Amino acid sequence: MSNCPYCHETIYGRSDKKFCSPYCKSAYHYQQNKNKSESLFTSIDRQLKTNRRLLKTYNKAGKSTVRKEVLLSEGFNPRYFTHYWKTQKGSLYLFCYEYGFMEVKESNASKYVLVTWQDYMKSQ
Ligand SMILES: [Zn+2]
Repeated sequence: MSNCPYCHETIYGRSDKKFCSPYCKSAYHYQQNKNKSESLFTSIDRQLKTNRRLLKTYNKAGKSTVRKEVLLSEGFNPRYFTHYWKTQKGSLYLFCYEYGFMEVKESNASKYVLVTWQDYMKSQ
């Protein structure tokens, strides 16, 4: 005899029955999916905040350059950003809230140019 994973009642009948009722079955799966999407939200949220914290830490002067591997080794993930700003020359800065970064190659080393959000960036 087993118990329903949703309401924890004892299940009667066929031994391969996993839930006591169709209601519990769908409620259980609904709950599972809900937990899954909440944990995706939580992990993206956490990564964005980590990115922002690192960009802020390495960008005390308002504009600076840091080696890519340094940021990555501290947990920075460039795939997570909130928005972007494209310069008139076509360079693309990715932002985590008010802190932005752009990857550049300088003699074999990959670096990030770090900037902070400015009001004029809204209109471009
Ligand atoms: Zn049940």
